[in-house]
Amino acid sequence: MWQDNFVSDKKLIDRIQRTIFCKNLSHAYILEGDRCTDKLDFAKEFIKAIECKNALGVGCDSCISCRKLNHGNFEDLHIISSDGKSVKDSMISDLQEELKKKPFGDRHFVIIEDSDTMTQRAQNRLLKTLEEPPMGTIIFLLSENSENLLATVRSRCIIYRLIGEKAEVDGMIKLAEALVNGILERKNFFYTWEILDKAVKSKEDALELLDGMERIYHKILVEKDSRAGFLRREAVGEYISLIEECRRDVLANVRVSYALKNLIIKIGGIIR
Ligand SMILES: [Zn+2]
Repeated sequence: MWQDNFVSDKKLIDRIQRTIFCKNLSHAYILEGDRCTDKLDFAKEFIKAIECKNALGVGCDSCISCRKLNHGNFEDLHIISSDGKSVKDSMISDLQEELKKKPFGDRHFVIIEDSDTMTQRAQNRLLKTLEEPPMGTIIFLLSENSENLLATVRSRCIIYRLIGEKAEVDGMIKLAEALVNGILERKNFFYTWEILDKAVKSKEDALELLDGMERIYHKILVEKDSRAGFLRREAVGEYISLIEECRRDVLANVRVSYALKNLIIKIGGIIR
């Protein structure tokens, strides 16, 4: 969850939560942070907190909005990224066309990654949207250095500076990484099983491990992690549904070792 993932930004998150509760949201934010700070993840958590059906201000990761945001298929979220060099004028004009359409839910959300690489023309075009945003629309500009943005753009946004230190990675998350990589490298079943059998002691461990694995696969799917090139998209989708199935088994008190063994065997059977 938000607070757990961005421990050093807890105060900022508290502040944001208050604005959500008071329905006092701005229509545009600049989320500024260094290269290592996962600004995209922060923006998505922000949107989850606004849209969550169960835990307003927090995000529950299980309601339909949270799930869609985690899976990268939330209809009202438009993400724009640079083409490697810059965010172009045409991308902003395409966005403006999208924003003319009625959102599926209450509002459109826009995330512009690498916003400080927007060309001057793109920024000037965006300015029109910032001046007269379509009803309810909320725009997030992700930036390493907002000084690179036009003053006119900056002045229409609330600027939040992220510190971006993530919580110390705990054992199960490391294990999830090891497992995902082991599966990718086609390590054999016994190799994988030996690691798991030693490390996963309880139902809680297993659930944490499954969450960790699912998060990694989402990342591969949505953010085009470097591992994405080695896997078919559909295979990753199947992995995720197997992980979800396994989680249901564990929650239904199926023996942890049995549920996990089953998962690894099934994952091993999928053609990548
Ligand atoms: Zn939710």
